[in-house]
Amino acid sequence: MTHGPTHIPSRGICIYCKRSEVRLADEHILPYFIGGAHILKDASCGDCAKITSNFEREVSRDLWGDARVAFDAPSRRKKKRPKVILMPDQYNPGQYLRIPAEDYPAAMVFYRMHKAGILQGLPEQVDLSPKWELTSITDTAKNERFTLKYGQPPIVRFRHVPDSFARLLAKIAYGQVLCSLDPDDFRPVCLPYILGQKKNLSYIVGGRWSYPEMQPGIGYEMRTNCIRFPGRLLIIVEIQIYPNNGTPAYHVLVGDVEGHAESDRVFAKVEATYSVDVTDIGLYKPVADDAFHWMPSSWPLPAWAD
Ligand SMILES: [Zn+2]
Repeated sequence: MTHGPTHIPSRGICIYCKRSEVRLADEHILPYFIGGAHILKDASCGDCAKITSNFEREVSRDLWGDARVAFDAPSRRKKKRPKVILMPDQYNPGQYLRIPAEDYPAAMVFYRMHKAGILQGLPEQVDLSPKWELTSITDTAKNERFTLKYGQPPIVRFRHVPDSFARLLAKIAYGQVLCSLDPDDFRPVCLPYILGQKKNLSYIVGGRWSYPEMQPGIGYEMRTNCIRFPGRLLIIVEIQIYPNNGTPAYHVLVGDVEGHAESDRVFAKVEATYSVDVTDIGLYKPVADDAFHWMPSSWPLPAWAD
């Protein structure tokens, strides 16, 4: 969804709790702080927005705070943005160096993930997130200039917030699907995870272990992928934030649809970038090609409880 309309009309309900008799606010699909321009109009109530803005804030401030300052990322409070970053002086314990933001080679931290548990056929309680690895985008030339100028290498600061990061991905994926579907067109498997009712994000959120090719000039990319099994449709969204920097690619199982007629109806409505038909389960072979890292690697998929 790098193209297309940027303002999606409201459904008149909160996309998270489905209440209608409440004040609704616009919802950025990809947060403004990473340059998202696509908006679901009047889409979330105050209670739900409070929940989502909590984990969004953890990513924007705790994980990416310094990096956003250093890279001059969008912010509604740009005027209040610090001009200097305080870095512990490695030669004088307890002292801090005042580094002008433009000098500081902050690293933008991402998580490198394995395929989501459900797509590996794992039980819901298997938590893969301890195996996620930290990876970061750094500006090597800036790093070297820094070390020369300040006589010590930069210290990267961030707080490890894997759950918040994964919840943000789930929220982005859900918003992407709502550009073409209505909230009651599918069973939103991702919703209890976004709202914090279910905790093991690695069950529905995963990624491609190897790095995709860099895509110069592309700030973010989302694709809706559908897998059509007999009588069931799976809706999976792929997300890459800053593919121009060689970041990991992620996937989220957003939801599913049951029943032949209903699956056909929803498939005709969803704007899928890519779809696979699995007509004969006996012949179904998982695609090994890493490009299709979001394909399930086992059948049948475990049934999930609502
Ligand atoms: Zn709500």
